[in-house]
Amino acid sequence: MQIYNTQFHKKQEFAPIDEGKVRMYVCGPTVYDQIHIGNARTFLSFDMIRRYLMFKGYQVTFAQNLTDIDDKIINRANEQGRTAAEVAEEFSNAFIEQMRRFGIIDPDIRPRATREIEAMQEMIASLIEQDYAYVAPSGDVYFSVRSDSAYGILSGRDLDQLRAGERVEVNDEKRDPFDFALWKAAKPGEPSWPSPWGEGRPGWHTECCAMIHRHLGTPIDIHGGGADLVFPHHENETAQAMCAWHVPLANVWMHAGMLRVEGDKMSKSLGNFFTLKEVLDKYPADAVRLLMLQTHYRAPLDFSFERLEGAIGTLERLTTCVENLRWAADNAPQNGFLTEFDRALGAAVDTAREEFVASMDDDFNSAGGLAAIFGLVSTANKYLAEAGGDMATAPCLRAADMLCELSGVLGIDLVKATAADELPAGLIDLAREQAGYEGDSTSEAANVLLATRAEARAAKNWAVADAIRDGIAALGLSVEDTAAGARLRSKE
Ligand code: AMP
Ligand code: ZN
Repeated sequence: MQIYNTQFHKKQEFAPIDEGKVRMYVCGPTVYDQIHIGNARTFLSFDMIRRYLMFKGYQVTFAQNLTDIDDKIINRANEQGRTAAEVAEEFSNAFIEQMRRFGIIDPDIRPRATREIEAMQEMIASLIEQDYAYVAPSGDVYFSVRSDSAYGILSGRDLDQLRAGERVEVNDEKRDPFDFALWKAAKPGEPSWPSPWGEGRPGWHTECCAMIHRHLGTPIDIHGGGADLVFPHHENETAQAMCAWHVPLANVWMHAGMLRVEGDKMSKSLGNFFTLKEVLDKYPADAVRLLMLQTHYRAPLDFSFERLEGAIGTLERLTTCVENLRWAADNAPQNGFLTEFDRALGAAVDTAREEFVASMDDDFNSAGGLAAIFGLVSTANKYLAEAGGDMATAPCLRAADMLCELSGVLGIDLVKATAADELPAGLIDLAREQAGYEGDSTSEAANVLLATRAEARAAKNWAVADAIRDGIAALGLSVEDTAAGARLRSKE
C-alpha cells in the first residue's frame, strides 16, 4: 500500500511500526464555534483512511484531541459573558454530535487539552533543561528555533527563507521571530494553571505533541490534518518531539487538501463558510460524503450546492441499483441455468473489488474506488435491462452485496439505506378488494396486486389499473416499473 508522505514529498510503501497495528492521530478542532464543511472534509478524509486501514486488516488506534483552551475560546467567552469552559463544553458536544451525524467513527482516544496539562509541562520542562526552550521575563516559555538544527524538516523551509518571506508578529521577548510559545503566561481574568514558570496555559503546538507522546507513544505511524497545518503547526510539533525525546513524532505525515468556495479556501475569517450542521440539516450525510470522496483527499475540492445536488442523484443511482438487484434476486426464475450474461455479471463483481482495492491501495484514491463501484452499477443496470425477467439469483445477490461492502468501506451505509421496508398490512385488504386475494401475507398481496395491475394495463382496463395504483399510493407506496418488472417502493 502506497501513502503520500508530506515530509518526503512522495508516495512510499506503508510499513507500520508494529506489524498489523496502526497508531494514528489527527489534529482536532478548536472548540469555539460550529465547525464548517472545510474542517469536516479533513475529518472525513481521515475517517475514510482509517476505515480503509481497518478493511486491510490493521488494528487501528485513532486519537483526536479537542483544543478546549485557546485565544478564540477566551474571546468568544468574553463576548458572551460566559466562561471559556462553558464555551468549550458547548462546542465540544456540538462537534461530537455533528461528527456522528456525518457517520464519522468516534476516535478511540479523545484527549482534551485542559486535562493534559501535566504531560505538557513535563515536555516543556524537558525542552528547557536541554536548552531548546527558554523562559521570557513575562513568564512565557518559548521554543528556540535556532537551537534546533533540523527546524524546517517537515515543510522543507529554512529559517532564512522564512524570515525573508513572511511577516511575523514583533515580540521583543523572542530571540527569533519564529520562536513559538510553549507556555503562555496568564493575563488577568484568563483561565490558567500553576506551573514552574508561573500561572499560565499551554501553547497550541505543545498540546498535540504532548498528548501524542502520552496516549500513543512516539513515534506514531500516521499524523494527519489539513494542508494548512503543515506550517507552522506540524513543523513545530515535530521540532518539539525531536528535541524533547529525540524521536520523530510520526513516520508518515498526511495532509488533506483544502475545501474551496469559488476558488478561495473556506474559512471563518473569510466568512465564506457553511457549517456542517446547516448542511446536514438540509442534505443527506451520505450525499455530502459521496461528494467529498469523489475528489482525491489531497486535491483541493471545489464545493458548490449544485455539485451536492448532483451527488444526491449519484447516491440514488447506487441505492436504486442495490434495491433492483435484491428484487431481481428474489424474483428470478429458479430454472437453474446460468447464462453468459449471469456469468459476466459475476465476473464484473470480482473486477470491481480488484479495481477498488488497487485504487485505494494507491494513496487512498477514493475517487478511483468510487469509479470501481459505479462501474459495477453500470454493468448491473445493463444486466437487469437485458435479462428481461430471465435473471439469476446468485450473481444479483453477489453484486448487491459487493456494492454494499465496498460502499461501506467508504462509510456509505447502503445496507441501512436499502433495508426492505415493512410492507403495510393495508396491502392485504387492497388485494382482497381489487384482486380477490384470500391469503394474509403482505408480500404475496403485493405480488398479486402488481400482477393484477399488469394484466389490467395489458387489457387497457385503466379503471382497475388506476384503482390499484391509487390504493397503493394511499398506503405511502409507489409502483416502480423497472426493466425486470414492476415493484413497490416507499415514497420519500
Ligand atoms: P481548526 O479548528 O482551524 O484547527 O481546523 C480544524 C481542521 O480543519 C484542521 O485540520 C484544518 O487543517 C482543517 N481545515 C480548516 N479549513 C479547511 C478547509 N477549508 N478545507 C479543509 N480542511 C480545513
Ligand atoms: Zn495538532
